[in-house]
Amino acid sequence: MKPVKKNIQNGSICILGIPFDKNSSFQKGPSLAPEQIRKSYFSDSSNLWSEKGLDLGSIEYLYDLGDIEFKKGIDDFNLITNSIKNILDLDCHLISLGGDHSVTFPIIEAYAQKYDHINILHLDAHPDLYDSLHGNIYSHACPFARIMERKPAKRLVQAGIRTMNGHQREQAQKFGVEVMEMKNGDGWLDELEFDGPVYLSLDLDCLDPAFAPGVSHHEPGGMTTRQVIDIIHQLKGKIIGADIVEYNPDRDLNSMTSMVAAKLLKEIIARIYKDTI
Ligand code: MN
Ligand code: MN
Repeated sequence: MKPVKKNIQNGSICILGIPFDKNSSFQKGPSLAPEQIRKSYFSDSSNLWSEKGLDLGSIEYLYDLGDIEFKKGIDDFNLITNSIKNILDLDCHLISLGGDHSVTFPIIEAYAQKYDHINILHLDAHPDLYDSLHGNIYSHACPFARIMERKPAKRLVQAGIRTMNGHQREQAQKFGVEVMEMKNGDGWLDELEFDGPVYLSLDLDCLDPAFAPGVSHHEPGGMTTRQVIDIIHQLKGKIIGADIVEYNPDRDLNSMTSMVAAKLLKEIIARIYKDTI
């Protein structure tokens, strides 16, 4: 992917880092994610081909827009929404790297201004539907409550979930969230079908900590890397954008998890390329 300072071609696929972890409830670290994921993406230990046979190095309109620069005195969420709105206004497809999961709320605020009926596929160990956590309504445990209150999503489908509790089950019912819990197996995988654009929100703790230890919240009993790749390529619908969140380099072992994040980034780029060309 080419770095760019100005003049993105309309219709490009863009990568944007969001170095933000102010709303992490347990442990900071996801602000360090974008740089590490880029390093693993370009690591000589692998190559730039998608499993589907696409050489990502050959895509002409694939740009790295660098990281959002957060500044004192500028509202963080407004900055995220506005940065992403500017990219979507150019009909570009965006994959954001990093941040804790709270960033998905301001991201979806931007998508809601462009798309009327977006579907959201949310892969996570956690439903992130708390009304509030530790007094913070913008916690990384709350983004999908905030999103569903604003009603920009036609459907919110969650998979990988294995931490459901009473409050969040009530919230899921209240908002009509379709929750595929890990305990119920993966029979739903073949039936994952969407009508209209799909936004993919990928919290790396959807994976079992055995596959992705570099996250703040180790929650055993999760997905395999293979399952997540299969979801990316096999879901029926059109992926128009994605985020990869909650990578915490401070918790990683030998860059194992940033290699997983980079691999998933490659496969998401390939899927968006296929869906939009
Ligand atoms: Mn999450
Ligand atoms: Mn999570």
